[in-house]
This record gives sequence, structure tokens and C-alpha cells, in this order.
Amino acid sequence: MSETVTIIEVGPRDGLQSEPTILETETKIELVKRALNCGIKSVEVASFVNPKKVPQMADAEKVLENLPRSADSNYIGLVFNHRGFERARDAGVDEIGFVVVASETFNKKNQGTSIAESIDIWSDIAKQAQNSGMRASIMISAAFGCPFEGEIDESTIAFIAERVLKAGPDQLALADSIGAGAPGQVKSLVKLVKSIDPDTPVRCHFHNTRNTGLANAFAAFESGAVALDSSIGGMGGCPFAPAATGNIPTEDLVYMLERSGVNTGISLPELIETSLWLQEQLGHDLPGMLPKAGLFPKTSH
Ligand code: ZN
Repeated sequence: MSETVTIIEVGPRDGLQSEPTILETETKIELVKRALNCGIKSVEVASFVNPKKVPQMADAEKVLENLPRSADSNYIGLVFNHRGFERARDAGVDEIGFVVVASETFNKKNQGTSIAESIDIWSDIAKQAQNSGMRASIMISAAFGCPFEGEIDESTIAFIAERVLKAGPDQLALADSIGAGAPGQVKSLVKLVKSIDPDTPVRCHFHNTRNTGLANAFAAFESGAVALDSSIGGMGGCPFAPAATGNIPTEDLVYMLERSGVNTGISLPELIETSLWLQEQLGHDLPGMLPKAGLFPKTSH
């Protein structure tokens, strides 16, 4: 078992995209800066999608333009098509994120293409990203269940994984977009994709809709996932699953991991402060428990 894990902060993209409040560009930039200040190195900062469809992400370029750059920081931009890729590349993202949804119905609703078409687009964009010196990661979304088609067969995940891995992604992510998964399933799916390609690092993305998020994250870590997604405060949701809650809260995830002896390199007091600050910006309470309960022990780093 590896004793470190990389936390990928997805709040500025996955979280804010589902928030009814559209934050000012300056506030988004401040959020990313605060995340970096906590010790987070990888941040999903924006998606490059049609601003008419996702007005929360209309200022993606402006956000990127004003972010501090260092060898340490890794900014991820989500894209669905070539146009999005070109925008992300021109905006200077370090890593392209691309999604293939594990159900035809959900994939069509989410990106307007079939799974096979999405895989083709991904293969092409991955090549272009790599030629431009960028990292490229692929996420299999709704891997643990689909709001439209229900259970997703493991053979479907294997089918998609085999094809998307051919492009040589920097990471392969398994995402539970609607918070349907449970730890046993997580172990099984992480094992499955690692059996297809033991060398590509596995990342996992959980929502806490049915309160299994943190248990799933730990199961993923124990099964060999090296990166976990979360959002500060646990903000967010899923536009296709009205009852879906946000990502697992970064502060609760880091607390659980650090208390278990897993190094994240992230400061908990700074995270709590940022989570409280974010609640003020959004004008409502967030699900993260650590800011409510406080650190234990109180003097913890
Ligand atoms: Zn998500």
C-alpha cells in the first residue's frame, strides 16, 4: 500500500458547475489560490464547454489567465470535443481531462455523442495533447451506476477501459457521478482496470449522495488508486441527478487519510479556513464535517 496519495481539488469545476450561484472570476481565482496555499497541487480549474449550456464556466480563459504558475501546480481543464481542447490548450492548462460515460443514454445526454464516438474523440485529443506537451487523463464516468440505465456491467467498464487506455493516458479515473457505489464495488472495479493495465495510475472520483463517499475513497486507496478527487466543503452535485450531493469534502478526506497515516501534504487548518471562507462566498452551509466539528487533536498540523 502506498503511503501517499494525491488529492485533486475539483471544486472550482465540478463543484461550482452545480452551484446556482455564479461566483465572480476573482473569487474563483482566489479559491484556486487558497487551495494551492493549503498544499493542494492538482486543481481541476474549469471546463471548456459551451457557455450557453454551462454559464458557470463561461470565464474559463479569464480564470486560467490569472492563476499563479509554478512547476508544482497542475491545472486540469475538462473538455468534451476538439473545440474545447483548443480553448484549453490556448488557455495554458497543464492537463486535459476527458470523460467517457459508461452508459449510452448518459453519454449522449452529457456530450451528445455515442460511447464509440467519444472514445474516438478522446483518442485524437489525447494524441494532440501529448504532442503539445500536455498531460491527458481519461475518466470513465457513471462507472458505479447510471441514473438512466441503472447498474453498469463490469464488462462495459472493461470494454471502455481497454479502448481508452490505448491512447496512453497519464491517469485513468473511475467516477461515481451520482454517488451510487459502495466499497466492495470500488475494490472490484479498481482491480479490474489495474488488471487491464497495471502501469497507468488510477484516480477515483466520488460523490457522497448515499453517504458512501469516504468509505469508497478509502477502499479505492487500499486497492491501489493513487489519486482521489474531492471538493472543498463538499460543494456541488450532478445536473442529471437532482438529489446528488457534492463531491466528498476535501477537508474530511484529508482528515481521514492523515489520521490513517497516509500523507497528503495538505494543511488541515488552512483547509478548514478555506471551507468556511467558501461558505461565505456561496451564501450557504456546505456538507464538510470538519469545519463544524473541529480538528482532533486540536493542535493537529
Ligand atoms: Zn463529479
